[in-house]
Amino acid sequence: MSVLVLAEVDGKTLKPSTYQAITAATYWGLAIDVLVYGKDLDAALAEASTISGVRQVLRAQADHLQHPLVEDVSDLVMTIASDYNVILTAHSVFGKSLLPGIAARLDTAAITDVIAIEAPSHYVRPSYAGNILAHIDNHEDVQIVSVRSTAFRAAERNGNAQVVAISVPPSRAVSRWISEQLSHSERPELNSARVVIAGGRSLGEQFDSLLNPLAEKLDAAIGATRACVDAGFAANELQVGQTGTIIAPELYIAVGISGAMQHIAGIKDSKVIVAINHDPDAPIFKYADYGLVADLFSALPELNAALQ
Ligand code: FAD
Repeated sequence: MSVLVLAEVDGKTLKPSTYQAITAATYWGLAIDVLVYGKDLDAALAEASTISGVRQVLRAQADHLQHPLVEDVSDLVMTIASDYNVILTAHSVFGKSLLPGIAARLDTAAITDVIAIEAPSHYVRPSYAGNILAHIDNHEDVQIVSVRSTAFRAAERNGNAQVVAISVPPSRAVSRWISEQLSHSERPELNSARVVIAGGRSLGEQFDSLLNPLAEKLDAAIGATRACVDAGFAANELQVGQTGTIIAPELYIAVGISGAMQHIAGIKDSKVIVAINHDPDAPIFKYADYGLVADLFSALPELNAALQ
């Protein structure tokens, strides 16, 4: 009886979402193994072996896993799946692609985007852009689960698990990694930042010049609404919301954002929400802990000056 957590490696280290998935995995009170796959794994394996609550770290090292493809990772998981009662990963872009295929191959259901585990087979997940919370009882023998990382705290690092090598099946070569374009930023990652300041389309061409100095001072990540991204004022990867990144920072500052439900779906778990909008009836104020009815083009420079 044990739980298998599928880790995610970012370059050489584990993604924060792996730590949060391990916390979710502790719910069952069973032994937890972590599968780490890739090509250069030394740093990630060393890290995984120190995470509290982990029994063993499974090392799946192969050249073709340098840029993991869903089909190859699915084949890898299937070689060990029968040893586990629960297979769990983060509800990331990769996890979302991977998990349903594994569930289909095991002829069972995948319960995705889980924000709470209330009993061994009882899950809570948001539905309809977070407007309802669905409670799901899953009576399958094997539980296949992806968890929303922001809903679980990160596991701590005071463990000492053993690392065990497992054999990796050859690539099926049904799809091919061609290239990736990553944008590098000095700012914290949007999905793990303690503070996020986000702007709507009303910032226009001044999106960067108004938000950057504040983000710098607050050590904040920058986010944007879809309307702002669609208008070309902010990069795609800054989009926050139902179809963007879901975040839960300590402090979320929404500037010139109306508060559409698709945006709220991505920010409502923030601990403190501050909204700046010149329309006192803007829906964002219903969700804000602190609201400032003001013109953003004067409020932001004032805020910036006050933070000097
Ligand atoms: P607007 O709705 O145009 O609001 C602009 C706000 O700025 C207004 O409240 C206005 O009062 C205020 N304002 C204007 N000028 C000033 C000023 N000078 N000073 C102060 N305030 C000012 N949206 C997302 O954000 N994320 C998503 O993931 C997402 N997914 C979607 C998925 C689907 C299927 C659909 C249909 C929509 C989705 N949307 C998403 C879009 C969403 O419905 C809204 O259109 C969008 O969030 C609105 O962005 P906005 O607040 O920047 O713009």
